[in-house]
Amino acid sequence: MDEQVISVDIKNFTKKELQCRCCGKFVKNDKALIALQAFRDYLNRLFKKEVRLYITCGTRCTKHNKEVRGAAGSYHLTGEAFDVFSTDISASQIYNAAIFSNLFSTIIQYTKSQFIHLDTRAIDNKKTPFHWIEHK
Ligand SMILES: [Zn+2]
Ligand SMILES: [Zn+2]
Repeated sequence: MDEQVISVDIKNFTKKELQCRCCGKFVKNDKALIALQAFRDYLNRLFKKEVRLYITCGTRCTKHNKEVRGAAGSYHLTGEAFDVFSTDISASQIYNAAIFSNLFSTIIQYTKSQFIHLDTRAIDNKKTPFHWIEHK
């Protein structure tokens, strides 16, 4: 018997959107990409319309991470994190849906910059994702 292989079409996102803004570096993290695509599909079902997600930041190289004052251990360095926004639903709707979907382990809403940080970092024994709001 053939091995079972999970195949997911990341149909709503391109490498160009997900790569580092300064140099084009892209770290392909399958778990994070599958969560991102599943979340996009989940939003469509939840809001009963096409909900586009725009990526303001995917992979960051070390240099770019320093430039944007990212944390030293930022999950953008490992391709596990995405900053997103939508013109179809509000930032709060993305934030709440992301918590509810259980697809990510950490969700942060940045109220001033109007985007939502999503990542799939490994967290033990956690039933609901870590989530908080930052006023910056
Ligand atoms: Zn770069
Ligand atoms: Zn982020």
